[in-house]
Amino acid sequence: MLKVAVIGSGPAGVYAAAALTQHGDVLVDVFDRLPCPFGLVRYGVAPDHPRIKSISTALQKVLEDPAVRFLGNVEVGTQITLEELHRLYDAVILTCGAMVARRLGVPGEDLAGSFSATDLVAWYCGHPDAPIDRFSLQARSVAVVGSGNVALDVTRMLAKSVDELRHTDMPDHVLKVLERSRVEDIHLIGRRGPLQAKFTTKELREIGELSNADVFLDPKELALDETSRERLATADPVVRRNFEVLQAWAERPPSGRPRRVHMRFMLRPVEVLGDVEVSGLRLERTRLDRAGLATGTGETCTVDASMILCAVGHRGVSIPGVPVDEQTGVIPSVAGRVLRAGSAAPGEYVAGWIKRGATGVIGTNKSDAKETVTSLLEDAPSLPPAPVRDPDAALHLLAERGVNVVTWQGWTAIELAEADLGRAQGRERAKIADREALLRAAAGGAAG
Ligand SMILES: Cc1cc2nc3c(=O)[nH]c(=O)nc-3n(C[C@H](O)[C@H](O)[C@H](O)COP(=O)(O)OP(=O)(O)OC[C@H]3O[C@@H](n4cnc5c(N)ncnc54)[C@H](O)[C@@H]3O)c2cc1C
Repeated sequence: MLKVAVIGSGPAGVYAAAALTQHGDVLVDVFDRLPCPFGLVRYGVAPDHPRIKSISTALQKVLEDPAVRFLGNVEVGTQITLEELHRLYDAVILTCGAMVARRLGVPGEDLAGSFSATDLVAWYCGHPDAPIDRFSLQARSVAVVGSGNVALDVTRMLAKSVDELRHTDMPDHVLKVLERSRVEDIHLIGRRGPLQAKFTTKELREIGELSNADVFLDPKELALDETSRERLATADPVVRRNFEVLQAWAERPPSGRPRRVHMRFMLRPVEVLGDVEVSGLRLERTRLDRAGLATGTGETCTVDASMILCAVGHRGVSIPGVPVDEQTGVIPSVAGRVLRAGSAAPGEYVAGWIKRGATGVIGTNKSDAKETVTSLLEDAPSLPPAPVRDPDAALHLLAERGVNVVTWQGWTAIELAEADLGRAQGRERAKIADREALLRAAAGGAAG
């Protein structure tokens, strides 16, 4: 039997487990540092996107396979080391994601009121590591820096009324804060132009369909330089559709909705203003160089904002003993084989965001994981077998260390507890955010 440890139960980890089970005689243990599986499908995808969230139903089926075990609440690197996993498993697949937010790197970034968009996402998705009182949403004006779907997600969540979000699985404490939100203006700021934005059209359109917010877009924001004008003619259809959506908004009169989304382009933050707390954001107008990168023009302006959300990408989460490229934030690999000092490390593989960076949609991780598992299965006949053959050895080791492992039964109990909590509040499900409460629920106790 081939024993494989998968580190991370996000889409990449689960798709890797699925590909392995098709191989036949395998045992796959999927570890996660969190008590709940599915990574960013549970803790990233916006709560008002239930169709995307329902991907977890397909992921769930994989973890129900008898050849796969979910071992939640186990942090690899601290509670069990990578070296130990190599002794217990024939191969290890790293699928630990890339959830460290990239920073703006400008003065004032650490002032109170300046956050990464990831902080807000983790909070509204009920991530156990997100302090429940992290956000009060008392800022009237918020600046969101970034031009990808995460920037759109946080903008939409701040722009919607609480009544539009009550039916979601958001934790109760989040709904209470949203109820008292004073947010009125959201400035969505892109460092490059509308053609360089990474929005997908469906998510972009949603901003224009908000019933609680008007979109303000000065036609000047859509002015294209000569290179961009030429590029538009041959651009990707998504880019052209996005541009059409933006052009339509620039011509649309506002209709007096309570909140306003201001779309801005070609502006890069140069300083977060304020003494102790954020009071604004100083921006510098940019131009695109030949490579399409934004460079400053020296012309500056200021946006009043008492909350800043930085959504400029993510980099890899490092696990002790694993090489992460400083520049790219990924584990160097070839076809999913981890490279150490330039050579493939025997029995060590990587998939998902930590392999290719924070790009692509959930489905992209499926083909990515398949490539990795294909390499693993090609190598399998020549891999030295793990010295320890007992399939339960990891469980024994973790029990000796007093680690409270959340197994599949534990996760099922959490699901029931969240459904009960939701029912009591008139919705399908309400997330439990607190780690201790999750562990109590996993043990079949009260959610608390
Ligand atoms: C805010 C946000 C919203 C998104 N929305 C969408 C969307 O609507 N549609 C879409 O298609 N894509 C969306 N994505 C992208 C999608 O979530 C990713 O493509 C996908 O989650 C990447 O999968 P992954 O398995 O590589 O990483 P992740 O999903 O991050 O999973 C990594 C897992 O590893 C675990 N882990 C980390 N370190 C350790 C450790 N030391 N020990 C044990 N476990 C560990 C983590 O707890 C986590 O569960 C979104 C991304 C973000 C950030």
